[in-house]
Amino acid sequence: MPTTPPYIGRFAPSPTGPLHAGSLVAAVASWLDARAHAGVWLLRIEDIDTPRVVPGADQHLLRQLAALGLMPDAAPVWQSAHSERYAHALQTLLASGRAYPCACSRSQIDQALAAAGATPARHAQRVYPGTCRHGLAGKAARAQRFLTLAADGQDQLVNWSDRRLGPQQQNVSRAVGDFVLQRVDGLWAYQLAVVVDDAAQGITRVVRGEDLADNTARQILLQRALGLATPAYLHAPLVRAADGQKLSKQNGAAALDSMRPVLTLASALQVLQMPHAADSITDLLANAVPAWR
Ligand code: GLU
Repeated sequence: MPTTPPYIGRFAPSPTGPLHAGSLVAAVASWLDARAHAGVWLLRIEDIDTPRVVPGADQHLLRQLAALGLMPDAAPVWQSAHSERYAHALQTLLASGRAYPCACSRSQIDQALAAAGATPARHAQRVYPGTCRHGLAGKAARAQRFLTLAADGQDQLVNWSDRRLGPQQQNVSRAVGDFVLQRVDGLWAYQLAVVVDDAAQGITRVVRGEDLADNTARQILLQRALGLATPAYLHAPLVRAADGQKLSKQNGAAALDSMRPVLTLASALQVLQMPHAADSITDLLANAVPAWR
């Protein structure tokens, strides 16, 4: 009989500000899913994008989670302490030819895309045209990229299944292109760090916001290239701002009401279509776990 791997889940916020209604829904969903499966729930502070990190935001969001009864089963970990892990993974990918240094500046990439008749829409993701795939031609490396083409030079199509959204498919080579693993400023890219740390922490189930669903195919390619297991994914619904956009600090995501934690938690449970009528944090969580199952 096949054995089911143990359930190890996580919530992995970036400390770029306090939790808001949207990030709280992701936190509650991952906590509930872990509890409903009698699993382990871990917290990882994703603080590698140092220019975006707000000092003190990590402690603030840990306090916010604790006030809502969302306690991790082990001490939280910080990505900033794990640079050598990411460096090691990059070396592995470079050695196996799955990553390569890139000398292109942003404007050079735009020029190459324009020359190929593929000017990206403003703000649209640039699909890297692959200029440095076959070497730097004497130029200095600026960033490190992941080679999304298969060994035979074909596009890589990733099929995966989301526990809520169903079957998903992405041609990573065309939709995203060779993505960055280490940035010009030396910082590690989210894609690399999240894959390396999910594996290092033995994460078997990822539950996070739907805004991140589009990253999953890239992460699966990285897992395969590094010989790592792929967790099961569930992307939770997003809380929309009044204008229908994703909730963010820019469009005024209100700070959570720390004076009314029961109401705050109840609102997050409501988004998840869970029972949300109770007078205490303990009862709200206790009612939601069996309902989630
Ligand atoms: N740190 C990411 C964020 O806050 C989430 C990463 C993940 O759950 O994969 O958007």
